[in-house]
Amino acid sequence: MNTVTREFSMTINGKGVTSEKTIKVLNPATEEVVAQVPDATQEDLNNAVRAAREAFPKWAALSVDERAAKLEEFADAFSKRSEEIGNLFTLEMGRPLQGAIGEVIGAAKTCKALAQKRLPREILEDKEHHFVEKVHTPLGVAGLIVPWNFPVTLAIWKITPALLTGNPVVIKPAPTTPITALLLGEIARDIFPPGVLNVVSGGNELGQWMTEHPDINKISFTGSTATGKKVMKSASGTLKRVTLELGGNDAAIVLEDANPKEIVEPIFWAAFRNTAQVCIATKRLFVHEKIYDEFLKELVQFAKTVKVGNGLDPASQIGPLQNKMQFEKVKDLIEDTKKSGFNIVCGGEIEEGNGYFIPVTIVDNPPEDSRVVVEEAFGPVLPVLKYSDYEEVIARANNTEYGLGGSVWGNDLDRARSIAERLDTGTVWINEAQVLSPHFPFGGHKQSGIGVEHSLDGIAEYTNTKTIMVKKK
Ligand code: NAD
Repeated sequence: MNTVTREFSMTINGKGVTSEKTIKVLNPATEEVVAQVPDATQEDLNNAVRAAREAFPKWAALSVDERAAKLEEFADAFSKRSEEIGNLFTLEMGRPLQGAIGEVIGAAKTCKALAQKRLPREILEDKEHHFVEKVHTPLGVAGLIVPWNFPVTLAIWKITPALLTGNPVVIKPAPTTPITALLLGEIARDIFPPGVLNVVSGGNELGQWMTEHPDINKISFTGSTATGKKVMKSASGTLKRVTLELGGNDAAIVLEDANPKEIVEPIFWAAFRNTAQVCIATKRLFVHEKIYDEFLKELVQFAKTVKVGNGLDPASQIGPLQNKMQFEKVKDLIEDTKKSGFNIVCGGEIEEGNGYFIPVTIVDNPPEDSRVVVEEAFGPVLPVLKYSDYEEVIARANNTEYGLGGSVWGNDLDRARSIAERLDTGTVWINEAQVLSPHFPFGGHKQSGIGVEHSLDGIAEYTNTKTIMVKKK
């Protein structure tokens, strides 16, 4: 499938809704228009929020098992259409097809796993004259704002806990990848009562209207740190609860006893999977000086075997950047790296032509304060950095405003563990990377976010804590 001949509508109060104004969705591999989708007006958003508000009492009154059953039905319904959704995903996002289909199937599994979870009612005191219980109540309407790098996964990570705990949702995909979320909305129409799951598409201002909206009680946002700050500021007007999953500049630390041949491949993918458009991608790779040269040689050798191309070509392992803005940003970073005279040992040359393609680019030991080290590239440019001392490398890894993830690689597990304990990040992996699960909390320290997703901790973020006390006779 190379073109899309059908139309996509928003889902508001269980019905398909179009709009006068539309947004063009481009295929990042060809820059051709794939589809035109509705550009929601403020009135559309108000209608979606009103529908969600009206649906709230009945949805919240269902038992958690009834809500979970609906979520499981939803997961089955979109999983069954994984090929169709995966194709559209590749067309709008650029991700190679197998990965796109895999993401849809994976999102359905996550939805089902999260739907199994139950926030416990906790008895805090049960004495002769006094009984105290802690319960969780839903917040109201949840506004869910999603970026373009994992348009299906990140939507499901938010929809599931919100609906499970009784909060109807209004979800807004990124303006450059709206199709998959609109399709999820279409599928949801036959499953959930009207108003429970609404999908609106539009530009960045639609996100801002959501964060300001007086009838939205919770914002769960995934995106850049800069936008996250705007979201928090704007949500403060009505004291909305917020969960913010933001940017990262993850360090991977390779110990002196690591075997380069064994770890080069997983580290390569930790850095470049999804064209490096991953919040928890390895973005700074620290390698001990004793094995630095050998490691870099192996890494470059492997990098040269990886095929970058159109996601619809089965041979492609890495697709284009998702949008022009990101493409220009990464191009600029590579230009700056070249102008500064740093040693690019792989890639770096961007071919003219259609599509937002950037080759895998590896930079040999640039200075610590260079842009390519300090900035979150969110594209396939990786600085490899030499270190000689473990105290030094911990300090360097932590020397960033971000604190999302990190990893340590080597055979001395005690040393790896002691370094992991001291990295100031929400997640640290040892001898693996990017392993996520609905059972483990995921979130950022410092300016990488507030709150977590997944696990009971993440589910609880869609609830108020309520303490009930009874004085017994
Ligand atoms: P972005 O912040 O530009 O946009 C994210 C979403 O916010 C989009 O839907 C956008 O339309 C909307 N938005 C834009 N301005 C808004 C405003 N003022 N108010 C409300 N909503 C607004 O981010 P992006 O470029 O789409 O995504 C890339 C960033 O996301 C990277 O920094 C990446 O690290 C981060 N990210 C974080 C995680 C995580 O879990 N921590 C996961 C994926 C991506």
